[in-house]
Amino acid sequence: MKNPVVGKSERRRIDRSVERLLRDLKGVEPPLKMDDVIRQMQLDLQYYQGSDPSNVREVVHSIKVAGKNLLSSRTILGRVIKKLGLKGLLFWDDNRILIDSEQHRAKFKWSKAHECGHKLCEWHQDYLLGDSSTELSLSCHKTIEAEANYAAGQIAFMKDRFVEELMDSSISLASLRSLATTFGNSQTSTLWRMVEEYRGQKSIVGIVSEHPKHPSDEFDALDPCRYVIQSPEFRHRFGTVSEISLFAELNDYCGYQRGGPIGNAEVELIDDNGEPHEFHFESFCYKIKSPEGGHVLQVLTLGVEVAELSVTTSVGSRILH
Ligand SMILES: [Zn+2]
Repeated sequence: MKNPVVGKSERRRIDRSVERLLRDLKGVEPPLKMDDVIRQMQLDLQYYQGSDPSNVREVVHSIKVAGKNLLSSRTILGRVIKKLGLKGLLFWDDNRILIDSEQHRAKFKWSKAHECGHKLCEWHQDYLLGDSSTELSLSCHKTIEAEANYAAGQIAFMKDRFVEELMDSSISLASLRSLATTFGNSQTSTLWRMVEEYRGQKSIVGIVSEHPKHPSDEFDALDPCRYVIQSPEFRHRFGTVSEISLFAELNDYCGYQRGGPIGNAEVELIDDNGEPHEFHFESFCYKIKSPEGGHVLQVLTLGVEVAELSVTTSVGSRILH
């Protein structure tokens, strides 16, 4: 799935709200503590245990009450719960956030930031608790989730503070690890922000996928990447590069190691005008908790355009074009 685009005006509104929020937190340094943000936003934070069925029933009941017009259909309710994975919920009128206390520490912060993100998008109130004539279609749901994730990213990575540090760093997996530590966020969310916030001329792409040499039983060869994150320049110039062809490149250069760096290579990608371009791809692997309780291997890949491919002239000199 390629990263969805958040509309320009929504982005501006979110940016303004996050700037105000960070200003109100006065002189705060990374890593930002989400509990400070929640306090500043005057939200009430509560926890529930995702593995406790009785607890989950209570949460489901609350959603029905909170959004009875919109969420009365079992199918829609089920879809929303599945989509959210019950990692976090926001009850708009109560200013209350519910967070699954059993998720991985790295995801914990993101779940809180995501729910705060919804709250910063005032227009989400209409969708979450809207009138009965509005259907929460899947595309509408995708849009508001993308907006909440964008807002969450701007909060957790402290907006311009991250962009400044990113543009002072090399665009590499080593920088990714260092930025993840500085800002106290997961490596996956750092990959997203690196690619989307990159302001330079090069095209870059991030990929979150399974291990190409150790696919799980659920692996779908026709939909091989969990996420393909495109920088604005990459989206503009390489829109026709398919997720299948990107994963095939990974499969070519990745080794069988089950953790740490698993390979890197120079990769040629064809732009939308049919021109070849050279990228440096590097991948590393780590274990994540699966929804069933076991572990699965996750691979993060960063692809950075090296230079436009050179051509050799008749006199043997290499010219960049
Ligand atoms: Zn959400």
